Amino acid sequence: MKITDYYDGKATRLSFELLPPLRGSSIGAVYSTIDRLKEFNPACINITYHREERVTIQRPDGSIENRIIKKRPGTVGIAAAIHHKYGIDVVPHIICGGFSKQETEDALIDLDFLGIHNLLVLRGDGDKGTGVFRARPDGHTYAVDLVRQIMDMNRGIYLDNYLDNYLDNPSPTTFSLGVAGYPEKHYEAPGMESDLYYLKMKVDAGAEYIVTQMFFDNSVFFGFVRRCREAGINVPVVPGLKPVAIKKHLDLLPGVFGVTIPDELAGQIRACKSDKDVYRLGIEWASMQSAGLKKAGVPAIHYYTMSRPDNIVEIVKRVF
Ligand code: FAD
Repeated sequence: MKITDYYDGKATRLSFELLPPLRGSSIGAVYSTIDRLKEFNPACINITYHREERVTIQRPDGSIENRIIKKRPGTVGIAAAIHHKYGIDVVPHIICGGFSKQETEDALIDLDFLGIHNLLVLRGDGDKGTGVFRARPDGHTYAVDLVRQIMDMNRGIYLDNYLDNYLDNPSPTTFSLGVAGYPEKHYEAPGMESDLYYLKMKVDAGAEYIVTQMFFDNSVFFGFVRRCREAGINVPVVPGLKPVAIKKHLDLLPGVFGVTIPDELAGQIRACKSDKDVYRLGIEWASMQSAGLKKAGVPAIHYYTMSRPDNIVEIVKRVF
């Protein structure tokens, strides 16, 4: 089922975002997480995609080796495994970073054959060390370019269509796409207006809904939706929520994601004696946000679970 078909205005639905396990870990932890979350009848489970990282390793003899590693492979396999084991709709994330257009097309062909037709299409994070995003020369620079590649496939246009007699009557795919939006603007965007301009470009290119970056003040989200509508972006906007869980989040979340922790929440985090207290506070705050969003009739709430669902389970139990 298309994800937007769940957003029929009757009730606020749920989506949960999971990370693929670290390389070498079994899929068991993913299943345990879903076993905890499935009782809430989510519209879908999202699975993140992670690009390669450059790491410096010191060998036993003391010499240094620079390596490129992929810590969390398996997005396509995990999406298929969840879909087939639980019958829940899955939304693998597809990113530009680290991939050539050809590799992306191959992954999309695999997903199509596996019966997975919902995707969240993203540019991907910057380099872990520098924070700067660099596309591969044979890859895409912006999410909109990836949206266009996938929409071309939906029209039966594959990368090698121009080679005479190579593709015999190519079959159109049926992918349905979501994209990311930023209630406080993307950290690289010079301003909200330009960020909304490019968000609209993604929607005009074929994206059918938007999932937002985390935020900690619902009025920021409502203001964002209003500005989207004024800019002519009329697709469903799904709020993304992440409960604060450790004291470090106070600096980490604004620093890495460009989001604001409101003064009231920041004060309460500072007053916590331990991370355990921050964890409890995060549940309280996110429950309050969830209740407000549900009351306002948002199409769904997207929870960033980080594959550690205890706090999310408690929030959802309280509010839904
Ligand atoms: P884009 O839409 O390409 O925008 C990036 C920046 O470029 C913005 O500042 C925008 O204003 C600007 N821009 C856009 N198009 C153009 C253009 N044509 N010309 C000039 N400027 C332009 N990251 C991962 O690596 N893996 C994941 O699984 C993942 N999942 C996510 C899920 C959600 C719900 C969200 C909100 C984010 C997720 N991210 C993930 C993080 C995301 O990849 C980063 O936020 C990334 O920095 C931007 O991605 P984007 O798709 O919004 O990029």
